[in-house]
Amino acid sequence: LAPVLTIDGPGGAGKGTISRMIAEHMGWHLLDSGALYRLTALAAMRNGVAVDDAEALSVQAQALDVVFAVEDGAMQILLEGDDVTTAIRSESVGNAASQVAALPPVRAALLQRQRDFCKTPGLVADGRDMGTVVFPDAPLKIYLTASAEERARRRLLQLQQAGEDARLSTLLEEIQARDARDMQRSVAPLKPAEDAVELDTTQLDIPEVVERIETLLAE
Ligand code: C5P
Repeated sequence: LAPVLTIDGPGGAGKGTISRMIAEHMGWHLLDSGALYRLTALAAMRNGVAVDDAEALSVQAQALDVVFAVEDGAMQILLEGDDVTTAIRSESVGNAASQVAALPPVRAALLQRQRDFCKTPGLVADGRDMGTVVFPDAPLKIYLTASAEERARRRLLQLQQAGEDARLSTLLEEIQARDARDMQRSVAPLKPAEDAVELDTTQLDIPEVVERIETLLAE
């Protein structure tokens, strides 16, 4: 069985960037599990399925026709052949994703698909429940956090760089609402696995976090 590094934590803690960098350095596969929830939400929105119709959504999640391709070194995501790499990152899809992710049948439908990403030589799995539910036997589990204020500030910078308009106070409210929903749901609530190493990145930059995790991996 290939080794798995799980990186869980709330949105905006830097999991995506850090997971991608470590996967690249190690030559391992990468699972962006949030993308699967975002894709399920987007497919539902496009097919007129309500975000609270658990049955229809789980069918949608099971049948998800998605391709993760690497194009010029960047990840490209195709949904039914349509490039949705940018579309799934919007705030509206993110909010819908966190709603569909609270439904047990949807999580069940995506479980095996996530486990199938585990292949030699190894996998970096990024999400909320990678260490608690999807890969409970992973030898190294990281739980990344940062204060909500710092995460809102990082998100604002990202949006500004993309030429988008946003207010810090609105972003902070959205982050807090999403944290609450992710932590309070009945299935796979966001929390560190018992054997996870917790890293608070509020005062750390990305290279420092990557270095700390790679040091732990090498131990
Ligand atoms: O990480 P990302 O923001 O892309 O995830 C979108 C949403 O999907 C999260 O707010 C969370 O509700 C959900 N999610 C989840 N379990 C995962 C990954 C993401 O519930 N493993």
